[in-house]
Amino acid sequence: MLRVVVLGAAAGGGVPQWNCGCPVCRTARTEHPELQSTQASIAISADGEHWFLINASPDLRQQLIATPQLHPVAGKLRHSPISGVILTNGEIDAVAGLLSMREGWPFTIYAHPRVLSILKDNSIFNVLSEKNVRRQPIELDRAFQPALPDGSPSGIEIEPFAVAGKAAWYLEGKPHPDGRPQNSGSDGGGDTLGLRIADKTTGKYFYFLAACAGITDDLKARLAGAPLIFFDGTVWRDDELIAAGLGNKTGQSMGHIAMSGENGAIGSLAGLDIARKIFLHINNSNPALLHDSAEREIAERAGWQIPADGTEITL
Ligand SMILES: [Zn+2]
Repeated sequence: MLRVVVLGAAAGGGVPQWNCGCPVCRTARTEHPELQSTQASIAISADGEHWFLINASPDLRQQLIATPQLHPVAGKLRHSPISGVILTNGEIDAVAGLLSMREGWPFTIYAHPRVLSILKDNSIFNVLSEKNVRRQPIELDRAFQPALPDGSPSGIEIEPFAVAGKAAWYLEGKPHPDGRPQNSGSDGGGDTLGLRIADKTTGKYFYFLAACAGITDDLKARLAGAPLIFFDGTVWRDDELIAAGLGNKTGQSMGHIAMSGENGAIGSLAGLDIARKIFLHINNSNPALLHDSAEREIAERAGWQIPADGTEITL
């Protein structure tokens, strides 16, 4: 049985974002605190005892406090059910939480060499001593099983695959620490991964794509018929940050497709017989976060869900 807990569903900054007075952030601070959401991450387990995080958000400490499944077991002075962290990109909202896991509990970080090169290049991550925290490279299109603390297989099979995307924004205009140029190759070079996550025993599976800059026919074929997908829901429309006066970046320039529009997620993934569709990595500028918005209605009518933090799904 595969258990999935949504630790957070928001994009970088969370909801509300510390310095933002947009309608969603204002509402989340005042009359609708239930709109508050931490930055995107999920936790998965096949045995209910050992858990793996998909990305480690800057809100990890708060997420762990709020998630009983991830508390230390009773009777142990030092313990965590977390056996590993799988990183799908090197953005701050995917890796900064690692710094909150520096208190000497052993676990393994699984990431593409491109993302591992970013960790290596930033000496602050050395607080995770290699003695305790192993860094395990993962390859595109090669399934692996994250290991339990005793080295035995976890029963979870993860297949990483390339998704259209960009290198982390703080690397923009700078050489990539792995030495290869930015956006090298059509696959983005491993900077942005999608994951197929399966229970080895039952064969049940789902997809995780917290960042995706475009939906190709290949990706559609891959996702068709899936029981569950978590998909990039950063912006409602590509120019929404600019239109709202919140910034000068489009969704595309940040490596994210929009929910709406001809090439957006809702339209592109319609009719693919996906049983459950959940948006993740939703920016606070996105009006679909508001329960009574026209955009929310459109998303829900198309079968999409915007999850609350703590939502648990069993496959
Ligand atoms: Zn805001």
